[in-house]
Amino acid sequence: MRHISMEQNSDLVYLGKVIHESSYDRESKEIDIDDTIKIDFVDKEGVIHEVKKSKKVEEPNIWQVKYYIWYLKQKGVGDITGKINYPKLRKTLEVFLEPGDEEKIMTMLEDIKTISQMDLPPAAEKKKICRSCSYNDLCWI
Ligand code: SF4
Repeated sequence: MRHISMEQNSDLVYLGKVIHESSYDRESKEIDIDDTIKIDFVDKEGVIHEVKKSKKVEEPNIWQVKYYIWYLKQKGVGDITGKINYPKLRKTLEVFLEPGDEEKIMTMLEDIKTISQMDLPPAAEKKKICRSCSYNDLCWI
């Protein structure tokens, strides 16, 4: 919401980029829509893909792709599905919008808006995920 990006110099982001580029080089790459979502690639069947360097399937990855599908639906692009590719796991996970997901996304967006309008953000809570987050320097150093 503040257009702050820490990712350009992140080694982890660079690693993700290298894995992405070397894993799926036959597909068209990185589709940026409205400066809001960045789809890694779309395959010949029109399925959107997100490539993750992680060695495990994580819930936020799934919600990221669900959000992309929801966002495209708001723009009139219906019947979209997604896949998350985990090259290190040699695994692909299919992602759909399921009943109740749209309501959850609306709630998440409302929560984000509420936080963004606070005079001060809620107290930060250091979690395990912070270690691999590209905002780590901004939050904790
Ligand atoms: S470093 Fe932790 S608190 Fe900061 S944005 Fe990342 S996950 Fe959130």
